[in-house]
Amino acid sequence: MTTERKLIVLDVDSTLTQDEGIDLLARYVSDEAAREVSYITSRAMAGELDFSESLVARVRALGGLSLDDVASATARVRLSVGAETLVRSAQAAGHLVAAVSGGFHQMIDPLAADLGLDMHRANRFEVQDGLLTGRIDGPIVDAEAKRDSLFRWAEQHDISRSNTVAVGDGGNDVLMLSAAGVGIAYMAKDVTRAAADIVINTPDLALVLDEIGVRRV
Ligand SMILES: [Mg+2]
Repeated sequence: MTTERKLIVLDVDSTLTQDEGIDLLARYVSDEAAREVSYITSRAMAGELDFSESLVARVRALGGLSLDDVASATARVRLSVGAETLVRSAQAAGHLVAAVSGGFHQMIDPLAADLGLDMHRANRFEVQDGLLTGRIDGPIVDAEAKRDSLFRWAEQHDISRSNTVAVGDGGNDVLMLSAAGVGIAYMAKDVTRAAADIVINTPDLALVLDEIGVRRV
């Protein structure tokens, strides 16, 4: 019997990583900005605010920060426990591992390269002369865009819907969890748990492997 190839799509902030990248970055503005941004993030992730509107407001608060600030904040992002085991084991079994994020390429690209992810997609800060303008460059990666990325990657690699796995924690992951063959809520908000086939409440991302029958290596 051969195992069919799976596509595993991971959310980034508070799923693949322990932190919300944008909250870490806001600390480089001021303590007050950090409090405000993290309050908006938590309400957006609980599904209480429109994701895109909340993202625009949070990015506006970051205007004037430098790419050096972004790099410093990025260096403070902590991978979730089990993240490397998950990616390594899934890829060793022939599966694809991707990340899709309402966060930002400027913070996620280094992480995706370190982990050797097969694909990733996120938003982009607009930058002028090395400084964030406080605007987002291009269309926002919202809940629909996350779901559509899963569909597109599956199609590109000829993977059936039933062989897709989505893992996320936030309100903007609900659509992709519902659309995937297996939707996994990881250390998730109530709204996300309600949409999932499987709920993981232990902070170890490698538990995903056990749920989908992939051996740890
Ligand atoms: Mg998240």
